Amino acid sequence: MLRPGLYLLHLLLLLCPLAGAQDADAPPATARWWKGNLHTHSLWSDGDDYPEMIAAWYKERGYHFLALSDHNVLQEGSRWFSLTTPRGSGPVLDRYRARFGAAWVEERQISGTNQVRLKPLAEYRTRLEEPDRFLLVPSMEITDRHLTAPVHINATNPREFLPAAGGSNVLDVMRRNVNAVLDQRQRTGQPMFPHINHPNFGWGITAEELMHVEGERFFEVYNGHPSVHNDGDASHAGLDRVWDIVLTWRLAKLNLPPVYGLAVDDSHHYHTNAVGQSNPGRGWVMVRAPHLTAEALVHALEAGEFYASSGVILADITRDAKSLRLRIETQPGITYRTQFIGTRKQFDAANEPVRLPSGDAARVTHRYSEDVGRVLAESEATEPAYTFRGDELYVRARITSSRLKNNGYRDGEFESAWVQPVIP
Ligand SMILES: [Zn+2]
Ligand SMILES: [Zn+2]
Repeated sequence: MLRPGLYLLHLLLLLCPLAGAQDADAPPATARWWKGNLHTHSLWSDGDDYPEMIAAWYKERGYHFLALSDHNVLQEGSRWFSLTTPRGSGPVLDRYRARFGAAWVEERQISGTNQVRLKPLAEYRTRLEEPDRFLLVPSMEITDRHLTAPVHINATNPREFLPAAGGSNVLDVMRRNVNAVLDQRQRTGQPMFPHINHPNFGWGITAEELMHVEGERFFEVYNGHPSVHNDGDASHAGLDRVWDIVLTWRLAKLNLPPVYGLAVDDSHHYHTNAVGQSNPGRGWVMVRAPHLTAEALVHALEAGEFYASSGVILADITRDAKSLRLRIETQPGITYRTQFIGTRKQFDAANEPVRLPSGDAARVTHRYSEDVGRVLAESEATEPAYTFRGDELYVRARITSSRLKNNGYRDGEFESAWVQPVIP
């Protein structure tokens, strides 16, 4: 769906006799889908390949944008990587030389140790970026914690390095880091946003904590890393459930805007593909934006003009005051089950903590009534639609394919997509 302003602009361009005379540098006039991954690691932190090799992997597989989000570092300045382990060495270095040329790869020896220079983003992006085809977006993973609880927050398109802010509890750590990104945006005028990574990694973040982060607009509903517990377990809510709890409380009780769900790779391992490895290609976002620029992508993501995917592709999403309608890009022999999920305005808000054997409340997401995040409708259609009754706080959609995912984060994973919540 085009926003009314864009639609008008498009009409004007069509009617304008000069529209056909645009030169080749002019960007396309209408919004389209761009595929990208916002969470990726390289040798700049704990990934196992050179950043330009990783960027080339994504570009060659049809991605339009990529954010390399290394732990607590922006890819800037001078950095030499010591070849003291297999990481970055041997065949990995050979492939890097073969792909980019020996003249591109800078090596030196310091006190008997071989080192390779890690190129900063500003330098290597010149080899890979193309207008309307491939964009690299600056990023970093602010890697913080409270006691043993990991709190990881990506900053997409920051202008300056963001040191981990710390804090007195998990909620405070999230707030301080999120606010640091928003403050930098305010100060610099550069569109950028924070997103909460893998809340269930190390069982670090509960739904009750997540819902209270005022400045948070995005979290990872799907992360391709094999040890981040997307599905939860017997005593921990899965991330689809966490999303519904957070949406319900923000919209009904806390007077806060919705949180959108991202799918990301969080890839670290680029040489051996297997379940159990942290491989690229598992989760991504499809963003509908007029231009392939960081600014246009940030604005479209903030407007909810995107969906998250681990394999299911949508040709169209229409969200208006009356309904949420989808058009699935179907594959032969594959079926699709769409669940429209939401909470009604009159819902049972009772919830209780999960208790330890001692009777004390555990610091894990509470248990809530079935009213929270109900399946409001289900469809096997290839163009599923949900018409609002008017009593919904929000409605989102999750599409599950009958096709098993190739090299998923766990065995038995089916390809899926997550459509952002609509507030009727
Ligand atoms: Zn992380
Ligand atoms: Zn990560």
